[in-house]
Amino acid sequence: MLPAHPVGRPDLRTIGTRLLIAVSVPALLLALLGTATTWRRTDRAVREKTRTDALGLAEFVATSFGAVEETPPGTLPRVAHRAVTNAVRSNWSALKLVTELRIVGRDGQVKWSRRIEEEDKPWPQASQLLSIGEGQATFEAPSSPFPWNRGAGGEVIYPLGGVACGGCHTGPSTLRTGVLQLTIDEPALRTEVAQVFINATWFLTLFVLLLGGTVVLAVRVFVSKRIARLVAIMKRAEDGDLVVRAPDLGRDELGGLALAFNRMLARLTDLKAVEIDTQRDLERARTDLELKAALEDRVAELQILYDLARTIASSLDLNEVLQRVATVVPVKLQVSKFSIMLLNGEGKLEVLKAHPPNVGSEGLAFALGEGVCGAAAELRRSWYVADLEQDTLFKIRGPSGNKERGCLLSVPMLRGEELLGVLNFERPRKSDFGPDEMEFFTAVADQVGLAVQNARLHQQTVALSITDPLTGVPNRRHLFQQLEAEIARAARFSTPLTMLMIDIDHFKHLNDTAGHSAGDDVLRRVCQLMRHNLRKVDTLARYGGEEFVVLLPQITRAEALEVAEKLRKSIAEGNLEHGKSQPGGKVTISIGLATLPTDATEQTKLVDCADSALYASKRGGRDKVTAYQPGMEAEPTRQRGPRARERTGEQPALKRP
Ligand code: GH3
Ligand code: MG
Ligand code: MG
Repeated sequence: MLPAHPVGRPDLRTIGTRLLIAVSVPALLLALLGTATTWRRTDRAVREKTRTDALGLAEFVATSFGAVEETPPGTLPRVAHRAVTNAVRSNWSALKLVTELRIVGRDGQVKWSRRIEEEDKPWPQASQLLSIGEGQATFEAPSSPFPWNRGAGGEVIYPLGGVACGGCHTGPSTLRTGVLQLTIDEPALRTEVAQVFINATWFLTLFVLLLGGTVVLAVRVFVSKRIARLVAIMKRAEDGDLVVRAPDLGRDELGGLALAFNRMLARLTDLKAVEIDTQRDLERARTDLELKAALEDRVAELQILYDLARTIASSLDLNEVLQRVATVVPVKLQVSKFSIMLLNGEGKLEVLKAHPPNVGSEGLAFALGEGVCGAAAELRRSWYVADLEQDTLFKIRGPSGNKERGCLLSVPMLRGEELLGVLNFERPRKSDFGPDEMEFFTAVADQVGLAVQNARLHQQTVALSITDPLTGVPNRRHLFQQLEAEIARAARFSTPLTMLMIDIDHFKHLNDTAGHSAGDDVLRRVCQLMRHNLRKVDTLARYGGEEFVVLLPQITRAEALEVAEKLRKSIAEGNLEHGKSQPGGKVTISIGLATLPTDATEQTKLVDCADSALYASKRGGRDKVTAYQPGMEAEPTRQRGPRARERTGEQPALKRP
């Protein structure tokens, strides 16, 4: 940026000052030079004239000194010294400038002087004066390096003597009789000339000052003020006021400059308008681009959500759903580590699936409030740790210990107020989750939560559809599905499969005496006791009414008989409530046993055989276990009432009476 122009501030760089200096200094110098040169020449002329005059005067005095007085005929002529001296002493205008005039005799005595008191007295500088040679008149002006200082006077030393003096003065005529010393003052002319020069100098100075003032005034009026106005306008334009215009400054150069400036401003205003339009267009384009980018991001997110939803919705099996989530999410959401935690039966967050899998994360359980995931679950909101190294809440009990780097985002899965679990997302770099992403990850958690809930609902529905609601054991439908699977497995592995058909003895009596509610309790209790005495691989199902079926895979017929006996005993000795009012004094069961492939090779036959064996137990007095024997089916079977069939949905195909 250019430095601001100092408007109105006195400055040696201003045009006025420069012009003043440019005009005044040469004028002053020229004037001084002219004055000095003229003064020098005048001074020299005055001095020369003074010298000539002084020497002339000295010569005149010396010559006059030798003038002979007129004497009467016959008398010797007499030198008229006294007359000369008197004349000289008078106020003769020619000698007005002579300040001193003396004659020093050969003996060093002042023979004559303008000052009478000096006469006939020794002259101190006599020897110096007398040392001057014959005809060697000298003139000496006062010396000074400065011409205005030295004055224009001088001193003439003029030798006296010669033949003319021999008549009066004794001694060889050629000998000098004395010396004339004449001191002349500075002529008035010089003083006048000096005064003229002093006046001229003053005048010049005044002239230069006047000239300077005029220049300053002219520059101020015609240039500076107008320039200052122009500069002030330029300053406003520089500050961004492009609407401002320079005033009309006339038709001279400055006026032209103002006009040119106005034209430039007008052009600038146009350019600025174009720039503003361009800026606005650019801004709009940028906003459009940002919107487009945001839209693309949103579409990408929706695509991910859609893909995720489609992938996980294609299964209703919870385990499969979780597996798919654990496979798809790390890829689609670009996270290096991922885990799904669901709230288990103990109210803890248990890692069910993790990515990468099988590194020890699966099975880890966190209490609510424990660690980052626990905090997210407890507070029902996402918890973000931007730098795992610095975070104290973060605790890893997996194989990586506390050496984790990067960032972690734990998002709770909620359905309404219900907490389903937590999704954990990790990235290896610090602060790698943006605010938009967190929102998106919450949407992902909602999606996964929905899938989990659907799978669980499905699981519950399926469980309900195959479970007997009264006793909680599988119902008849599940029994036959299981039976089919077990028969197939037994055939595949050539292993035996035993079916126990179980019926509670005199149950109608129990209902009649203790009531149906008590009968229901007994049904539940009988199931509990039997379940307790069976393996996990065994199937206990309610066949109908007070009848149950147990499937015992992979054990021999003899072992199956032992199991059946154990079941019978567990009930008989179970001391069940209301048993005392039963015909046998206790609640008992009768069991019929048939084994695949010994007694039958297919499902219907196996059921028939077991049923025949059961009826044999009934016939045999109840509270018994009877293994099927060929021909048993020929025996008269027990009679089942239409009410019992109705309650259990029993199929006539089973040949049950
Ligand atoms: P048996 O020793 O010959 O088997 O005699 P029983 O009385 O047990 O035989 P029956 O088949 O005539 O009676 C079965 C009874 O079981 C009839 C019915 O009221 C009762 N019952 C069937 N289902 C239920 C049930 O869900 N709850 C209750 N409380 N009773 C049931
Ligand atoms: Mg029955
Ligand atoms: Mg019965």
